[in-house]
Amino acid sequence: MDPFDHSTHHSRKVKAVASPSQDPFDHNLQDTLDDHLTASVFNQAIFPAIIIFIIGGMMATVIWPVVPHELFAGWLLLFITAMSYRFGIIRAFKLKSHNNKGLEFWRKRFVLASAISGTIWGSLVMFNFLIESGILQTVIILAVLGVSAGGINSYASIRGAYPVFLSISLFPVGVWILSLGDERFTLLTLLVLFYIALMRSAVRYRDFLIEGVTLGLANERLVDELSESNENLIKEKTTQEVLHKLAGLGLRNESLDSLLLMAIEIICQVPWINTNNKGAIFLAEPGARMLRLSASLNLNPELLTRCHQVKFGECLCGRAALQNKLIFSDCVDQRHDISYEGMPNHASYHMPIGDNNAVLGVLVLYLKQGHQKIEEEVNFLKSVSNGLANIIERIRAIESSQIAYQVIENTSDAIVVTSPEGIIQSVNPAFTKITGFEEQDVTGNSPRVLRSGHHSNEFYKSLWKDLKRKGFWAGSLTNRCKNGSLITVQQNISSIRDSADEISNYIGVFHDITHIKRAEEDMRQLAYFDALTALPNRHMFEDRLHQAVTLHQKTDQQMAILFVDIRGFRTMNQSFGYSAGDDVLRGTVQRLKTVVRSDDTLSRVGGDEFAVLMNQVEKPEIIESVIHRISSAMAKPFKIDGVEVQGHVHIGIALYPSDASDARGLIDCADTALHQATSELNDQPGYRYFSGEQKEQSVSRLRLESDLRHAVEKDELVLFYQPQFNLNDGSLAGAEALLRWKRDGGKLVPPNDFIPLAEQSGLIVPITEWIVPQVVSDWYASPVESIIIPRVAINISGHHIGQPERLIKLITDTLDQSGISPQHLELEVTESSILEDIGRATETLKILRELDVTIALDDFGTGYSSLSYLVSLPIDLLKLDRMFITDICNDQRSIDVVRGLIMMCHSIGIKVVAEGIETLEQGKLLNELGCDIVQGFYYGRPVPADEFYWKQRGELA
Ligand code: C2E
Ligand code: MG
Ligand code: MG
Repeated sequence: MDPFDHSTHHSRKVKAVASPSQDPFDHNLQDTLDDHLTASVFNQAIFPAIIIFIIGGMMATVIWPVVPHELFAGWLLLFITAMSYRFGIIRAFKLKSHNNKGLEFWRKRFVLASAISGTIWGSLVMFNFLIESGILQTVIILAVLGVSAGGINSYASIRGAYPVFLSISLFPVGVWILSLGDERFTLLTLLVLFYIALMRSAVRYRDFLIEGVTLGLANERLVDELSESNENLIKEKTTQEVLHKLAGLGLRNESLDSLLLMAIEIICQVPWINTNNKGAIFLAEPGARMLRLSASLNLNPELLTRCHQVKFGECLCGRAALQNKLIFSDCVDQRHDISYEGMPNHASYHMPIGDNNAVLGVLVLYLKQGHQKIEEEVNFLKSVSNGLANIIERIRAIESSQIAYQVIENTSDAIVVTSPEGIIQSVNPAFTKITGFEEQDVTGNSPRVLRSGHHSNEFYKSLWKDLKRKGFWAGSLTNRCKNGSLITVQQNISSIRDSADEISNYIGVFHDITHIKRAEEDMRQLAYFDALTALPNRHMFEDRLHQAVTLHQKTDQQMAILFVDIRGFRTMNQSFGYSAGDDVLRGTVQRLKTVVRSDDTLSRVGGDEFAVLMNQVEKPEIIESVIHRISSAMAKPFKIDGVEVQGHVHIGIALYPSDASDARGLIDCADTALHQATSELNDQPGYRYFSGEQKEQSVSRLRLESDLRHAVEKDELVLFYQPQFNLNDGSLAGAEALLRWKRDGGKLVPPNDFIPLAEQSGLIVPITEWIVPQVVSDWYASPVESIIIPRVAINISGHHIGQPERLIKLITDTLDQSGISPQHLELEVTESSILEDIGRATETLKILRELDVTIALDDFGTGYSSLSYLVSLPIDLLKLDRMFITDICNDQRSIDVVRGLIMMCHSIGIKVVAEGIETLEQGKLLNELGCDIVQGFYYGRPVPADEFYWKQRGELA
């Protein structure tokens, strides 16, 4: 090992322990000095050894002739052995002192060599006893003294070596002196003084050496430190300069990519990193786990293309980003996922930019192949990475704050920024647009300027409490605009905290939802309220009933629901028009409102049907009193177009919990009770409570409906025919087909018991589709022997009129298939059925009439029959209802009405049929009044086809 290296090693040791206040002879330092001196002696020992060898040789030459040769040859052997040992250890030191053995080992060897050397030189003195020549004796003594003095140079440097050498070599000199004569004590004294002088000189010499070595060491250390710190200083300085320049970049108003390009140029110019002026910066795409090459310096175009985008985890850059850890590679190896043919081998640093939380990008520096990772470079890259992170964050913050500004300025949401004390600091244009307040109107004020007075102080207190506790509040508020108008806004308020976690601002964001609220309210109104009367509708009624039932299940209280139906409303509507009907409804509501209790819910649940939910019924008399009040309120007639119209009501009542214990059940019970009232009371006002009997009836109704469904298949329907006669000559004008049901083969069920049900259930349509061909087959299909009925009338229900295509198809198909003359068919429609949609019905009738089928208006007089529409209706016949006929003989008013009607019909070409004639008088009277055709029990009851016998009838009138 190079001894200077060794000294460097020592200097580190000294540096580690030495300081001006330290004892220079403390243990470590002593060792160090010893080591140092030992090393220097060994390094220079060869020359003194040669001198000694020469002196030894000279002495041998001088002494050889005067002493016994065997004895001196022994000494010479010893001398050569000692010298060999000395040269041996010098050589061995050179070769082996770098091994683990410390210099102490060599010091001990040298002390041993000194002892041997002292012995050799001392033993030379013993030859003086054999030599007689005083001169030769003196030469030997002087040689020994000289060698002893000369040994200072080397032996004194090594601790312990000189005293050992000197003592051993001078001792025989003392012994020889003692053998001399009178001067022996003087000489002995001189020898002792010489010994002392040599020892003192040796100590001084050693001190001198130590001082020199110490100084040398200190100097060496100083030089070391200076050069090291100078190097560090330069590196530190360049690092600071780079960081300073990077910080300066962050302040420039340029795009991030161009700033990063400048940054990479600055970084690559650092003199103590050999970057080959090649490097790049990748930016992590926010949220995409992807790096995008943002800036590059002197990169191969091929690499630029391939590294344009690098996924996290891909290649070295992607891995550095994924692991957020510096990656160093000293050459191009298998870790390079991205490479190209001819890519020069290189070393590279891949330093993530960012902090522990997020990787903003990766800095890549290219170095010469084989370059090793250096700590200083890594530290430099870490600092630079922070500097780059600052630039990126700053530019992004500026970009996002610019975006945020644009968003705030352009958003349609109003934004208000207040101080922590709630003083408005700024507002955006949308705020002005929504509230009408300009920025200068509100800044410096409290948001109270917007208060509408619609919310209580408690509301605002709880808002602030929430805001302080959760840092956020959201809800809808009613605010007042500058012009005093009220708006509903959806408001979010958030508190913003600064770095010290103190609230620095509140930000309120709101948008106008007045129109949504209004639409919601309208929707609610539409969904839950009746548009005409503004009463809760059936939906809402059912909801409330449901809630009430739920509540009453817990409280055990009684309640009642009343279904109120305006009798004859449909007819009123049809006769006077819908707007008159609407007036009646509104009038009814006004009346009902005055009589129901404030706690009760009045609803409109159908066209002319109202419901009253009586929430609490302590005793039955309460219901009676409400029923009574309703009936009396409705007893007064309505005045429509100057005509007084009676609008009395039927009421169905169901009780909770006795009739039903749930909302649905209660509604069904009230419905059934109302039905009962209607069917039992007919035109008389009144009410019915729900009873078990009604329940049975409704069950039997259901059964009836189910049986009726199968009546056609089971061939249970039968057609009866009632004759009609021409009053002028008594001839058979036609017959009316009247349906009968032979239910389960038993008694015939009259139409009034099942036709309404067939109409409600829609079964009337398929039934009619059976009747029409049946009529044709009864009378016109096969040649009839005796009786030819000119025309058979078939009753067509309103339900069928409502399905014109199906009705028209039925008639045309029947005519086409049978080939009979359309004049054989007459269709009877009731005025109520066509009034439902008179326009459409008129169209339908026109089409049928164009087929040459006869159209009759049945039951005229049962509704509020208006004469005005008769003119426009495409009809051939008008059938006066039995109602007109029954009392006609005793009631002049009826006579007048019928006469007027007949005259009017004749004037527009309509013939008049009178039905329900039971007496000859009635027939006569109608004849006088000009009626054309008659039908009634008096002339003939309805009979099955095979019992029909009339052809002509005498004594008609
Ligand atoms: P409508 O069409 O007015 O038929 C006349 C009704 O008056 C028949 O009752 C008939 O038997 C009855 N009638 C005729 N002359 C007299 C009389 O002098 N005195 C009395 N008290 N009644 C008389 P019916 O057969 O019980 O039919 C009742 C109603 O049932 C019919 O009234 C009609 O509206 C309906 N209807 C009957 N058959 C059918 C049908 O096939 N289809 C449809 N849609 N309705 C039918
Ligand atoms: Mg009829
Ligand atoms: Mg009739």
